Amino acid sequence: MKVKHIMVIDDSNTIRMSVQHTLKELGYPITPAENGFDGLNKIQDICSKGEDVAMCIVDVNMPEMDGISFVKEFRKTDQFTPVIILTTESGSAKIEEGKNAGASGWLVKPFEPSALKTTVQRLIR
Ligand SMILES: [Mg+2]
Repeated sequence: MKVKHIMVIDDSNTIRMSVQHTLKELGYPITPAENGFDGLNKIQDICSKGEDVAMCIVDVNMPEMDGISFVKEFRKTDQFTPVIILTTESGSAKIEEGKNAGASGWLVKPFEPSALKTTVQRLIR
């Protein structure tokens, strides 16, 4: 069976660590990235090893490449892998923009660990 990674893409080390901690019992390898660009590069590395991505959890506000741009790029080659946006942004226009870009879910920080876990388990493939 293919190894499937959960990508955690956020410029905050604290958030990356707390998401990692929250999801570790699900048993997936968790690969952190610091911005959208870093995330795309790491996904490419994963795929070139013959492994796969089960889900991406992505911040919106990040340097180099923000979360919405990441989703647009990611969706050019992958229409099905779920992408959850995890952000301090809660405005409906931003959420709509994320949905139009191809995001599968939206969670607002600070997040409730149980809510994140439930959302991941509901969407992961
Ligand atoms: Mg950020």
